[in-house]
Amino acid sequence: MKGTGAGRVGAAGGTEGAGEAGRARVTRAGAGRRTGVVRARIALAAVLTAALASACSGPSSSDADGAAAKRPAEPAHGKQAHGKPAPANAAPGKPAQGQPKAAGARAGEKGTAGALAAYVERVRKSQAARVAAAKKWGLAKTPLPAPPPPTVKPKINTRKGFETDGEGLPPVFTTVPTKEKIVFLTIDDGAEKDPELLRMMSDLQIPYSAFLSDYLVKEDYGYFKKMQDSGVSLHNHTLNHRYMPGLSYAQQKHEICDQQANLEKRYGKRPPLFRPPYGNYNEDTLRAAQSCGVKAVPLWAAEAFPDRMEWREWDRDLHPGDIVLTHFRGKEDWKGTMPDMIRRVMKTITDKGYAVAKLEDYV
Ligand SMILES: [Zn+2]
Repeated sequence: MKGTGAGRVGAAGGTEGAGEAGRARVTRAGAGRRTGVVRARIALAAVLTAALASACSGPSSSDADGAAAKRPAEPAHGKQAHGKPAPANAAPGKPAQGQPKAAGARAGEKGTAGALAAYVERVRKSQAARVAAAKKWGLAKTPLPAPPPPTVKPKINTRKGFETDGEGLPPVFTTVPTKEKIVFLTIDDGAEKDPELLRMMSDLQIPYSAFLSDYLVKEDYGYFKKMQDSGVSLHNHTLNHRYMPGLSYAQQKHEICDQQANLEKRYGKRPPLFRPPYGNYNEDTLRAAQSCGVKAVPLWAAEAFPDRMEWREWDRDLHPGDIVLTHFRGKEDWKGTMPDMIRRVMKTITDKGYAVAKLEDYV
């Protein structure tokens, strides 16, 4: 719905002064890993960096179109290809989180090397496909590849200033604790059902999560089934998109838990994630959500539109782990199509050196 602005936050918290407070608590899961694993990761990172550097250079050098000509010396989109020096977390000594499941699991160097080579080849091919997809869909740059998901999900706490009095409730947060240069894309409500969006995101292999309100989704459950089939996780955004703090506990439970049941019936899975409409909630909201299986309540750090970004933080910038909100909307609601919006937000994300990762890999 309209009015879901980044500036509007939970009933328990205000935007002002929240600033950096939320990200001071960044923790890193599994900090003390065994050296063997670390060594395998270092090797993986080195090979990946090399593979990506060759895979991402893009086809545009012989391209005569104006847009390409205006981008002199656009570098390869590998980890070290951006104007700024490579961040500490991209250095070879501190490789990407995670590793292919097969690597390290097999005995013997040869098995590990083989698995590594296969993994690198998959990443290389997938990035080559992305270069072509970015061109096809008119993106200014090829989206950066996300690092492998973490082997252990980070522990997520409620952002400071966003707490309710209740303890042990699902965490409310706007940023996922990570040091990787990644952000998460989330799309809310469900009004616009543009088939182009499904094609575009599949071609580009950009992960996103959908937070659905039934009063809009019920016009065409099939559209979101196709979305789910393409690998997108569908989450809860209530039945009717009401302002939760204005409702009783029983009414909130109806809005949240009946949507849990509805999504399970329609799509076969009870969502673990819930986002309250407008980002507004109280303790009853979190208690009701918890009672029907909600594990976490991701809000957002920035909101994307076809013509601009809106920021929650004072520095008007992206940060590692930030959750980006946008909406299923069309030309009657805002200045562009869904693909226009994706082009705009991906330009911001890629220009700042971030990759889009899959929220469910971290939460
Ligand atoms: Zn909404």
